[in-house]
Amino acid sequence: MTFEENVREYLHTRSIEPTSASAHDLMCALMSALCSEQDAAGATRGSRKLYYFSAEFLIGRLLRANLINLDLLDRAQDLLQSWGTSLSEVEDAEPEPSLGNGGLGRLAACFMDSIASLGLNGCGVGLNYHYGLFHQNLSEGYQQEEPNPWIEDTSWLRDEHTTFTVPFACGDVVAKLYDIELPGYHNGVVNRLHLFDVENPAPAPTSGISFDKNDIQHCLTSFLYPDDSDEAGRLLRVYQEYFMVCAGAQLIIADAQQAGWQLDRLDDHIAVHINDTHPSMIIPELVRQLTLHGVSQDRACEIVENACAYTNHTILSEALETWNMSSIERVAPQLVDVITNLDERAKARTSDPALAIIDRDNRVHMAHMDVHFSRSVNGVAKLHTDILKNSEMNGFYNIYPDKFNNKTNGITFRRWLMGCNPMLAAAISDAIGESWKDDASHLIDLLKHIDDAAFRQKLDSIKAQNKHRLADWLQKTQGITLNRDAIFDVQIKRLHQYKRQQLNAMYAMWKYLDIKKGHIPARPLVMIFAAKAAPAYTLAKDIIHMLLCLSKLIEQDEQVRPYLQLVMVENYNVTAAEHLIPAANISEQISLASKEASGTGNMKMMANGALTLGTMDGANVEIVNLVGKDNAYIFGKTSQEVIDAYKNESYHPWDYWKSDAMIRELIDFIISPSMLAIGSSESLGRVYQDLLSHDWFMTLPDVADYISTKERCLADFENRDAWITKTIINIAHSGYFSSDRTISEYNRDIWHLDATTHEA
Ligand SMILES: *Cc1c(COP(=O)(O)O)cnc(C)c1O
Repeated sequence: MTFEENVREYLHTRSIEPTSASAHDLMCALMSALCSEQDAAGATRGSRKLYYFSAEFLIGRLLRANLINLDLLDRAQDLLQSWGTSLSEVEDAEPEPSLGNGGLGRLAACFMDSIASLGLNGCGVGLNYHYGLFHQNLSEGYQQEEPNPWIEDTSWLRDEHTTFTVPFACGDVVAKLYDIELPGYHNGVVNRLHLFDVENPAPAPTSGISFDKNDIQHCLTSFLYPDDSDEAGRLLRVYQEYFMVCAGAQLIIADAQQAGWQLDRLDDHIAVHINDTHPSMIIPELVRQLTLHGVSQDRACEIVENACAYTNHTILSEALETWNMSSIERVAPQLVDVITNLDERAKARTSDPALAIIDRDNRVHMAHMDVHFSRSVNGVAKLHTDILKNSEMNGFYNIYPDKFNNKTNGITFRRWLMGCNPMLAAAISDAIGESWKDDASHLIDLLKHIDDAAFRQKLDSIKAQNKHRLADWLQKTQGITLNRDAIFDVQIKRLHQYKRQQLNAMYAMWKYLDIKKGHIPARPLVMIFAAKAAPAYTLAKDIIHMLLCLSKLIEQDEQVRPYLQLVMVENYNVTAAEHLIPAANISEQISLASKEASGTGNMKMMANGALTLGTMDGANVEIVNLVGKDNAYIFGKTSQEVIDAYKNESYHPWDYWKSDAMIRELIDFIISPSMLAIGSSESLGRVYQDLLSHDWFMTLPDVADYISTKERCLADFENRDAWITKTIINIAHSGYFSSDRTISEYNRDIWHLDATTHEA
């Protein structure tokens, strides 16, 4: 049956008339027809297979993405149009799978798309969280967390009718395997995302996101990284991590046996990727299972070290996981001897106690285990890898220089340009042809059209239309009315002090006061934020509160309102990002230099024609190297200055408050009568106190430079010709940040998989 016949058939068997079908019915019909197409496509093959372990896969909605990859987008649109509706309406009925937090999970999702699109024999391994991270509501000035259920009767999940038994100290728990098929782009192959689940998942909590963290049998896969501020929460994470790797290792061995691969030669046939430290227990677990199958301990350790590769995602020390051995003993006592044995092997290689797997307090350092027992350790942008080599992991680098390598992150242009910005994609194809869709580096050909007046005009009008689309969407979903003629200044990412939403908030206060002083801007500015805060991260929630207070303050002020607007978009997720990114004029990437490992939001906005306003941090450095300093707006302390300031303990925020009148005015504004009339003194007081007495992420030293650079950027926007030239230069150079490039490098240097010959 053709795709169209499958869609009709689905509706027909349910006695649904296409022209009167609901968006949800049509979504289910398309989903079901796509699943038939995917079943008919071939799996990738090869003598080696990659298992990409990640606690998160922030895959986003799949309807449009899969239609694009299977080359069915136009046909689906034609069909829906003939029934009087459109894909945009229908896809709004698709719940977004909530399987990740932010950048790390989204990276894993872009990688899945690229691995399939390059025809590489690889799969993802993760967990099937039922209620996601949480759904964020912004009501009454604060973030409220609710369950985010996404699994419906018709879903992308396929029950594989396969189970594994995970032996916990508290008893066995059955791991049930669900797969999501992920088609490659125009190559007729599909890969699989394997998601493990408990057999009888608990229903969603009726309000809020608290649940019985001790009820492992039913709640293990309820939420992603539940609150770890208490012992039960921390233990649940160990349960989740062990569940994922224990079932994953059994899957690897079952696959190997089915393929007829000898287990004591397993390193010839598998690559195991450890995405951040959450899956690190795959190392001892694979050793354990191999020895159960008769492989010697020595050989098992060798196999694991040859097969595994580890990606580090952060240098924030509080994010590098360590577990008390006593916690591991309570969850999976069978790992204690294996980890102890690995620690002895590591200690035979280096006597430096700072590099041990088990430290003197009997804590297990996951990242240390990863470095000792992986063949490759990579950072995610050049600067980040250099910091790992030269400071954070210098001790390890000295003993394993050949293990360390860089793989600058990337994004899939199928989702982040073709999918979310079809008008721009069409304009690009009109100018340079279609080949950029297979190889994003061809976007560089846009430079040949930089003086083409019609093309420039088209890009300008597309940005305006995308701003209207965003305004319509925000009106519909949150009742927010945007000033459509304003500059759209966008900071969308997890809320964290190192990402410095508080710095952007200080600009908002400065601008508010500046307008009150009578300085009328040349053009209105809309400051757009979207961010979830971790449920137990008090100060991050306080910063959200401060932003919501500022939003209200500005809105209530008749003198300022025509020129400035601050909006906070609720529940930042992939769907929201797909609406926001095509509409951005300015991409805020203002982390404290040295702290953002890479960033990928920066790449998405660059590809959609926004200019970066940022620090020399993460992949911003590589963006600036590609486009040149004149085509980005860079400010702030350098990573070296920051690293030195930490080392010398030379930064004291109080000094800035005392000596700098502007900074004093802004800091004091946080707890000024006009802010306290709107917000909570407790919450705003905590932000004020933190900035004044800790400011660990050095906001104040960058404030003045940030404000003046942002003012310069806004002034430059008025030179429309020069601005459009800059956006074209940015789009043209963005091809480097294709995750296809990143994945080709992983494969060339680490995995060594052969590409499946396409049968498209
Ligand atoms: C790209 C993306 C991120 C990562 O953004 P950064 O700015 O790199 O932190 C986080 N969340 C979602 C939904 C994304 O699409």
